[in-house]
Amino acid sequence: MRETRVRFAPSPTGALHIGGVRTALYNYLLARKNGGKMLLRIEDTDQSRFVEGAEEYIKKSLNWLGIDLDEGPDQGGEFGPYRQSDRKDIYERYIKQLIETGNAYYAFDTPEQLEDMRERIKNEGGNAQYGCETRAQMHNSLTLSTAEVSRRLGAREPYVVRVKIEPNQQVVLHDLIRGEVTVNSTSLDDKVLMKSDGMPTYHLANVVDDYLMKISHVIRGEEWLPSAPLHILLYRYFGWEKEAPQFAHLPLLLKPNGNGKLSKRDADQMGFPIFPLNWTDPTSKELAIGFKESGYLPDALLNFLAFLGWNPGSDQEIFSISELTQAFSLERIGKAGAKFDIEKAKWYNQHYLRSKSNEELAAFLHTDLSNAKIDCSKDKEIQIVNALKERVTFPKDFYEMGLVFFEAPKSFDEKIASKKWTSEAVQVLSALISAFPATKEISAETAHTIIQEVSAKQGVGQGKVMPALRLALTGGASGPDLMTTIEILGVKETQKRLSFALTEIRPND
Ligand code: GLU
Repeated sequence: MRETRVRFAPSPTGALHIGGVRTALYNYLLARKNGGKMLLRIEDTDQSRFVEGAEEYIKKSLNWLGIDLDEGPDQGGEFGPYRQSDRKDIYERYIKQLIETGNAYYAFDTPEQLEDMRERIKNEGGNAQYGCETRAQMHNSLTLSTAEVSRRLGAREPYVVRVKIEPNQQVVLHDLIRGEVTVNSTSLDDKVLMKSDGMPTYHLANVVDDYLMKISHVIRGEEWLPSAPLHILLYRYFGWEKEAPQFAHLPLLLKPNGNGKLSKRDADQMGFPIFPLNWTDPTSKELAIGFKESGYLPDALLNFLAFLGWNPGSDQEIFSISELTQAFSLERIGKAGAKFDIEKAKWYNQHYLRSKSNEELAAFLHTDLSNAKIDCSKDKEIQIVNALKERVTFPKDFYEMGLVFFEAPKSFDEKIASKKWTSEAVQVLSALISAFPATKEISAETAHTIIQEVSAKQGVGQGKVMPALRLALTGGASGPDLMTTIEILGVKETQKRLSFALTEIRPND
C-alpha cells in the first residue's frame, strides 16, 4: 500500500484562519493514524499577497496546538525545499515540459487586449474566458509564427504561460468526501501557469509539488474543489495520472446560524476569535485576539475542531488527541457545511479545564495574582481553584471570580439588599459575628453548624439568612459555595465583612 504522505500547504497571506487549522488537523490525524508523514509546504508564489510574519505565525500556531510536522521548511526532509519561492527552477523545468508536449503555450496579450476580448465576447453573449473558444483570436504561441514568438521572447516582452485545455474531455474527480464529480473540459479556461514575473501560479506549483513530494492525499477546503479538474488534467498532461493523490475536499465552516460561510466579521461581531493566536495586521495595525490568548486550551480547541465536519459514529464527544488519531477516518467526514458553534467550543474548554489537577489550575491563578501584585499562599490558591472549578470556562475566570477572596465588597447590590436584607437576617448576622470561634481558620462544616445554631436560636429560617450572608460577604447574589467562601476568607475577614455590611446596609423593613 502507498505510504500516507499529506501536506498542509498554506499561503502566507495573513493570519491562519481557524478553518485552515481544521485542515491542518485533519491532515495530521490521517498521517498519524496511518503511520505516515505530515509535511508543511509554504505556498508563497504570489508575491503580491505575501505578508511579513505570516509564515512564522503559521508555524507558531501549529506548534501551540501540538500539530507536529515530519517535514517542512524548519524540519527539512528529502523532498525539500518546502517553501515554494525556493523552488523556482524546479517549476521552470516542468513548465518547459508542458510547452514542449503542446499542453501549454506562451501568451503575450496585454491587459488591454484581454479586456477587449472579454468585452467583445460578452457583447456577443458568449463565455468570456481565455480558452478553447477564444485563444485562436489572441496573441500567443499558437497564433503567432515561431519566428515572432522567438523575437518577442528575445526582446523580453512580458508574457505568461497558459495551460492548453483540450475541449470535450471528461474530467472525473473521485473525491473521498464528495464522491464522483465529472466536469467537461470545454468549461475550463486556459489558466495561467506561469506569471509574467516568472513565478508559477498556485495550480502549477501545487501539482508539481504534490507529485514530487509523493503526496498520497490532498485534504483541503471546499473552496479548492473548482480547481481540482484542472489539477487532474495537469497530472494527465504530465503523464503522472497513476501517481496522482486522492482528493478530499472538506466541508465549509458556516456562521453559527448556518447561513453562509464563517467570516472574520462574524467572529468580530459575535465576539469570538477566528485565529489561533493573537495577530496584528501589519497594514492596519489592528490586533485580533487569538484562541490561545482568549483562554482556550489546545486540547479543547482540537477536540472542538475535529467535530466540525467529522464524527466518530458514536455519542462520544470527548476525544484526546491520541483517541482522535485512532478514531479518525476520511470516510466519516460529511459533505454538509459545519456550523461554527462557539458555545460548543466553550463547553469543551470547560471540560478540559476541569479535568486538570488543582495544582495545574492554581498555576493559572497564581500568574494572574502575581501580575496584579497580590500575594497568596499556594494552599489558598488551591482552595480557591477547587471552589471555582465547576464555574469557570477560561483560566482567567479563576482570577476574575476569585478576586472576591482578596477584595472585600465596597458596595452592595441594591436590588438584592432591598429583597433580602431583612431585620430578621440582620439579627442573625449580628449574632453570628460573636458566635464564630476565636481561631483564624474555620472549616466549611463548622461554619455551617454555627450558622444553623445561631439561626435556630433566633428563630429565623436559614433560607432567610443565607442570601443576606452572601450579600454581606460578596456584595452580590452569586459565587461559589457560601460555606467554602467562609472557609477561604477565614474567621477574621468574614467578621470584618459582616460588620461592614451591617453598618452600610439598612434593613428593608
Ligand atoms: N495554498 C493553498 C491555500 O492557501 C493550498 C490549497 C491546497 O491545499 O491545495 O489554501
